[in-house]
Amino acid sequence: MAVVGAGLVGLCSALWLQRTGHRVTIIDPAPPLGDASYRQACSYGNACTFAPHGVVPVATPGVMWRVPGMLLNPLGPLAIVWRYLPQLAPWLRAFLASSTKAEVERIAATLAVLLSHADAAWQPLVMQAGAERLKRHDGCLYLYKTEAQFRAADAENDLRERHGVAMDRLDQADIRSIEPNLAPLYHKGVLFRDAYVFSSPKQLAFALAQAFVDGGGDIVCGEVSAIEPHTDGIGLRIAGKAMLADHAVVAAGAHSRKLTVSIGDRVLLDTERGYHVLFPQAGQLLSRPVCYPEHGFYMVPMVDGLRAAGTVELGGLAAPLNPKRTAMIREGVKKLLPSAGEGSDEWLGFRPSMPDSLPVIGRSRRLPHVTYAFGHGHLGLTLSALTGYLVSQLVAGQDPVIDLAPLRPDRL
Ligand SMILES: Cc1cc2nc3c(=O)[nH]c(=O)nc-3n(C[C@H](O)[C@H](O)[C@H](O)COP(=O)(O)OP(=O)(O)OC[C@H]3O[C@@H](n4cnc5c(N)ncnc54)[C@H](O)[C@@H]3O)c2cc1C
Repeated sequence: MAVVGAGLVGLCSALWLQRTGHRVTIIDPAPPLGDASYRQACSYGNACTFAPHGVVPVATPGVMWRVPGMLLNPLGPLAIVWRYLPQLAPWLRAFLASSTKAEVERIAATLAVLLSHADAAWQPLVMQAGAERLKRHDGCLYLYKTEAQFRAADAENDLRERHGVAMDRLDQADIRSIEPNLAPLYHKGVLFRDAYVFSSPKQLAFALAQAFVDGGGDIVCGEVSAIEPHTDGIGLRIAGKAMLADHAVVAAGAHSRKLTVSIGDRVLLDTERGYHVLFPQAGQLLSRPVCYPEHGFYMVPMVDGLRAAGTVELGGLAAPLNPKRTAMIREGVKKLLPSAGEGSDEWLGFRPSMPDSLPVIGRSRRLPHVTYAFGHGHLGLTLSALTGYLVSQLVAGQDPVIDLAPLRPDRL
């Protein structure tokens, strides 16, 4: 059994497959083992938050009217890079088609089912990896600067409430009492009670990889360039060499599309580029992830300091980090958390994103012994363990605990 990719989705899939009796090999050019830097995976640089409130897709009603602004303001929280527009066009069309009221309701209901199983799927893996020490249960706080902003968020907060997200609406005094170091640039807020943090996604990935190796798994350093049918199973090409497996799981995050192309499947995967800046002196200033949706990033206390992570840039995998966007994050943090100090460690990562904000979990049409597990967008840390569990059920030929039809690779 081969798993392509050692991000959180690949690691969790490998662990769940191992737990169900398979002998598994993970292949990744830079896996989280030994002294590897492990910066290229999206699973390294995210906002560390297990987010049960993530039922709201990125494309919501009215997003169509924001497209001109996304194109005109390259530093906005959701921006489109002009020169990438021709390649992005099919994805963008499907993104806009997903933003109708009916589609948002359908997508939110699917996400709610996934999210309701997500924590249970993490528990055994966290225990196995000894990663309980990284978990901090203090919820996640969204803040709004004005009554108008707070009201404008009513539709999405109502959607969350209808899907059972545990949340408290807070006033200024409540917010000051739980986060006294924030500048008083807030009017009201919402606390998502069941959210929690893995205070170092990197340490989490290393712990999962170690647990996998301790359980008898193999990790091969290399990049898979193609996946092909073979008379005895599935052939994987790794740096000119061939590897044979009875089954392959493609979990290469935003880079999965070129592997689906090598197989001959068409999957509408692209990337929502996201950024982070680390504030090493500010790790104690907040007690939980804090997000001003207006700014588009989270500020998260973690073991290395405070990580300000987020924003969306639709611009593909090839363009380098745009330093103007990290400068914008620095400026934002300076205003919202004045004692945060100087930022360092700028990072750009590639969310693997489908236009409808739902992951892909399902078999290849061309090669039934290949299972796809990618496209987790903004929820990959939250949903990776559940995805791994579902992958192990698919491989075993069992009926999955949830209906996977909305997550089919060829749905768009
Ligand atoms: C700024 C930001 C903030 C975020 N915050 C959150 C959050 O708070 N909560 C949350 O749930 N999610 C969050 N996310 C999303 C989450 O990080 C991603 O959805 C998740 O990390 C995707 O995991 P993955 O394993 O699919 O991909 P990745 O982590 O990108 O891993 C893919 C792996 O595949 C390997 N690979 C690529 N190509 C090949 C190949 N050809 N052969 C072999 N290996 C290959 C790569 O080296 C990499 O290790 C955030 C994302 C960003 C960018």
